[in-house]
Amino acid sequence: MIASTLTMTRDARARGYAVPAVNILDDLSLRAVVAAAVAARSPLIVQVSVKTVRSIGTDLMTTMFRSAADSADVPVALHLDHCPDRSVLSDVIRAGWSSVLFDASDRALQDAERETAEVVAEAHAQGVDVESEIENIVGVEDGVGSDVALHAYDVETLVGVAERTGVDLLAPQLGTAHGEYRAKPVLRPDRVRELAGRTDRPIVLHGGTGLSRADFQSFIDAGVSKINISTAVKVAYMHAAEAHLAGARERGKWDPPSMFRDISSAVQAAIAECIDEFGSAGRA
Ligand SMILES: [Zn+2]
Repeated sequence: MIASTLTMTRDARARGYAVPAVNILDDLSLRAVVAAAVAARSPLIVQVSVKTVRSIGTDLMTTMFRSAADSADVPVALHLDHCPDRSVLSDVIRAGWSSVLFDASDRALQDAERETAEVVAEAHAQGVDVESEIENIVGVEDGVGSDVALHAYDVETLVGVAERTGVDLLAPQLGTAHGEYRAKPVLRPDRVRELAGRTDRPIVLHGGTGLSRADFQSFIDAGVSKINISTAVKVAYMHAAEAHLAGARERGKWDPPSMFRDISSAVQAAIAECIDEFGSAGRA
């Protein structure tokens, strides 16, 4: 079942939970996150970074996703994560993905607004939803982004741009960052509350890896209905591979399929925990 990101996240906002939006890296992690969602009866957004879509190719990625989502009996959407590149956006829109994040946070405000309106027109003509980011979420993710806050606006400006451009979901700066936290972040659920009081558009939390259950709950209570998870998948994947390879070396037995099984279980366990923390189990 291939689902709409907007429908899913609206339902989540109305019912007080968040849909896990999980960055996958290959077919193995794709099947593992879908299996975790099916097991918990959770809706799911599968996300792909520009780096991953470039490495796999749009056609193969779309085919892999359709095959995995068709066999799942819970709604699963396919979303392009942080994309500042208009040609990649056009490619994915043509391929009929559920949604895209147009990351215009490297542009000055006027250009960001003009280009966001263009992307919305292009995407909506194909039935594709648009998540909008004009403030940059700190941290570099798969080669996109910056470690410093380049653009920050008041809530009034964010809502004004969203209304004029017609975007579907909002990705504001909420104090979180991409990657692993070195220092404790100053979280801004107050900002979510302020935005949620002025717009019905679903609000997205980026940089979810490393936050506590209580942190997630305070964001969900404030109105967040999509939470992005990327680093947790990478860490689970690589640690499982590392542990498996250490064992293989000891035993002198090299069997890739058994390593894939270990990676899959580790990724499934990481996502099962997110589903539990976001309250999305049993909602599909
Ligand atoms: Zn992000």
